[in-house]
Amino acid sequence: MKRTIVIGAGFGGLALAIRLQANGIPVTLLEQRDKPGGRAYVYQDQGFTFDAGPTVITDPSAIEALFTLAGKRMSDYVELLPVTPFYRLCWESGKVLDYDNDQQRLEQQIARFNPHDVAGYQRFLEYSRAVFKEGYLKLGTVPFLSFRDMLRAGPQLARLQAWRSVYSKVAEFIEDEHLRQAFSFHSLLVGGNPFATSSIYTLIHALEREWGVWFARGGTGALVQALVRLFQDLGGELVLNAPVGRLEMHGDRVSGVTLQDGRRFDCTAVASNADVVHTYDKLLGHHPAGQARARTLKRKRMSNSLFVLYFGLNHHHDHLAHHTVCFGPRYRELIDDIFHSQHLAEDFSLYLHAPCTTDPSLAPPGCGSYYVLAPVPHLGTANLDWAQEGPRLRDRIFSYLEQYYMPGLHQQLVTQRMFTPFDFRDELGAHLGSAFSIEPILTQSAWFRPHNRDDQIANLYLVGAGTHPGAGVPGVIGSAKATASLMLEDLTP
Ligand SMILES: Cc1cc2nc3c(=O)[nH]c(=O)nc-3n(C[C@H](O)[C@H](O)[C@H](O)COP(=O)(O)OP(=O)(O)OC[C@H]3O[C@@H](n4cnc5c(N)ncnc54)[C@H](O)[C@@H]3O)c2cc1C
Repeated sequence: MKRTIVIGAGFGGLALAIRLQANGIPVTLLEQRDKPGGRAYVYQDQGFTFDAGPTVITDPSAIEALFTLAGKRMSDYVELLPVTPFYRLCWESGKVLDYDNDQQRLEQQIARFNPHDVAGYQRFLEYSRAVFKEGYLKLGTVPFLSFRDMLRAGPQLARLQAWRSVYSKVAEFIEDEHLRQAFSFHSLLVGGNPFATSSIYTLIHALEREWGVWFARGGTGALVQALVRLFQDLGGELVLNAPVGRLEMHGDRVSGVTLQDGRRFDCTAVASNADVVHTYDKLLGHHPAGQARARTLKRKRMSNSLFVLYFGLNHHHDHLAHHTVCFGPRYRELIDDIFHSQHLAEDFSLYLHAPCTTDPSLAPPGCGSYYVLAPVPHLGTANLDWAQEGPRLRDRIFSYLEQYYMPGLHQQLVTQRMFTPFDFRDELGAHLGSAFSIEPILTQSAWFRPHNRDDQIANLYLVGAGTHPGAGVPGVIGSAKATASLMLEDLTP
């Protein structure tokens, strides 16, 4: 029996490969890098372990479902640890909000910012839960192949005012500007500008409240390894160091893939977890359908990029929460710069990851491994030379962290590395160095997003951040479910 190929071992590719393999479809998973995980790659250096990307694990039930459908127990593969608080939100003024799942504690903290906002928050939570039911539970894992699917979802989306932005919806319920930031920044976690992205993305708040925030013991890399082991236990084949260079066509179907080193794999179907523009432009650029699709996709708005600094210290800052959001002096204006300005802003807002708070095994005894990221424009918005900008931004961020959050940081540095928009472009093949693929605005969501199955090439599928529903670990695992449902229908005799 010919194999089905999945290109790319990100969370989306892995989840799809598991679903197919568990349903009796033999899968070969081809990954260009030396390790699986994609954005969830892992760096190891001098006893420090650095998760490269996702660290906030939500909707553990979607991950557990992959083990269950394979007849296995997740607990035999990986342990998920609860994270409390979910996030610590900090402002330069010294104000702090520890955001977690304890309603009473949360309301007490909200009251300290503005007593009126307690009732407003309750109404916001109700709204967010309604969106979560419609947008995540009902629509998050079903493919949108025809406009009819979109029309069917229309009335609910209209009722929830999906055309409004995340921030404007939050501001309808909440008065205090700090709290507006606290409950609207979430869309940035999936590449969405809170001032432009559909209010559907407020569902992330309800998602976190519903199922909590988790971290895998051993880091997100341990979760990736667990999925790889599950896939291999099911008989799936993972080939690393296997960059696909070209999709081979026979008529209007894909007949196989050729790697950059010339190796060829015949197949009955291909699903690409690679960047969508890369898939059509580079892998299918020799075919008219690929060229046409790439042209259309290049006109779409891409989400922002990120500047990420991984660093190990010979000191564990145990006063830090596992996840800290460090709001800078500007919010709306900074986000506007990130999404629209040709220059790098002078200020920044940061996300600081301190995983040793939950799992000290990620650094040598007494030490701490960290990463800090700043959202920055992608290369189409600001065509910056990151070889120059990177070290400058690194120095500014380290000084800032030392001043506000991590006294003594410079003295304590043992190891460090950067990941810039150039690396998103060159290491991951991300169009314009975007960190989250196509920007999740309403006119680029659901049916308007690249479909889980190509419209013209019947045995070419997409999975991951560039297709429905979109970026984020729950999103791409949901995309795998949507894509698998189509593939199983098409490939099962
Ligand atoms: C720094 C950072 C932090 C994040 N934090 C969070 C978080 O806390 N929580 C959360 O839910 N989400 C987070 N996200 C978003 C989330 O990580 C991504 O949306 C998600 O992991 C993307 O998964 P994916 O399946 O689309 O593929 P990717 O992870 O992009 O993987 C695609 C894979 O395809 C491979 N590939 C590409 N081209 C080829 C080719 N030609 N041949 C073979 N292989 C190829 C790549 O090497 C890669 O391994 C974060 C993202 C980043 C960048």
